[in-house]
Amino acid sequence: MLYKNGLTVLSDFTLEEADVRVSKGRIMDIVPRGTLHDPEGEIDLTGRILAPGLIDMHIHGCAGADFSADKDTAACLTRMSDYLGSRGIAAFAPTVMTMPGEELRGLMKRYQKATVNPLAGAAAAGIYLEGPYLSAKRCGAQPASCLRLPDIAEFNELRRLSGDAIRVVCVAPELPGAEEFIHHAAAVCRVSAAHTAGDYDTLRTAIEAGVTHATHLYNGMNPISHRAPGGVAALMEDKRVICELICDGLHVHPAMVLLTYRLIGADRLCLVSDAMAATGLGNGSFKLGSQDVTVRGNEARLSDGTLAGSVTDLMQAFENAVAFGIPPLDALKAVTINPARALGIDAMLGSVAVGKSARLVVLDQDFRMVKRG
Ligand SMILES: [Zn+2]
Repeated sequence: MLYKNGLTVLSDFTLEEADVRVSKGRIMDIVPRGTLHDPEGEIDLTGRILAPGLIDMHIHGCAGADFSADKDTAACLTRMSDYLGSRGIAAFAPTVMTMPGEELRGLMKRYQKATVNPLAGAAAAGIYLEGPYLSAKRCGAQPASCLRLPDIAEFNELRRLSGDAIRVVCVAPELPGAEEFIHHAAAVCRVSAAHTAGDYDTLRTAIEAGVTHATHLYNGMNPISHRAPGGVAALMEDKRVICELICDGLHVHPAMVLLTYRLIGADRLCLVSDAMAATGLGNGSFKLGSQDVTVRGNEARLSDGTLAGSVTDLMQAFENAVAFGIPPLDALKAVTINPARALGIDAMLGSVAVGKSARLVVLDQDFRMVKRG
């Protein structure tokens, strides 16, 4: 199949008049416009942009499916995969909420079983373990009663049960034992600072120990201040750290999204949805786990008015980032190659390059999704 006459986002994230031939799920050729024909079929992309499929590395659920709560993990992942695939997302890392150890172990086992065969839509790219090694002071929607101290033995057990599928583990670096945990975990996956009340110096030490990622920067952290820069400043200033932002326009003010991009640059910014099960269901009232959630537009609230999580998927987050003023090709990096690197799947996904997966997306000239490529 040949995608022709469009503009293609090349692997250096420049736009080029290039045609792209794909076969058997792989990108086979990228050639100057009009120089190749494909008897297998051709798709005319005149006035369109061919871009890599998006990668959502932090997502709890969507389309009614909840990775942490659903007992049928295979059905849950299929539902997430189908919805995300229809929204231009090539791969996702289902994200685990804080829960009791027994439930965590069960989920790891079910994930391994459910991913023996590839999913039809977006691919499952490994687990993002957000809980349980987080601070009660900044735990947000994570249930405080199940939080615990960083536990290397438990982490090793979870990895084993998942079939070594944990790609990211979160930790609040100020917790006792965190530094040793970071040392240990950084050898086997990405370690992210999350839900932390840690100050600037604590986070500096954590980065030296092996933290290379910031889970939804600003959210679940002490605010940045000129007298007390806090963990946020330590994470932003260090070039080794990739910073996530929830880009629904609610969790982080649009002006702060743009400011963060200007400070850390296009190669360290990673947009995430942090989406929950009500994402993609439209407006209405839903029972999610044990809670009643009402969704209106991009807001999901509990009955007492508390924000219940994000209902903005990554494609919408990307469009928001462009609307907030981030140059489109830089915003595209933040939803493709940067999360691919963070998950260690950039050899196969994250950019349009020969040999990589042909999970592509077609955008219009304003970088809005037309359809999945
Ligand atoms: Zn989350």
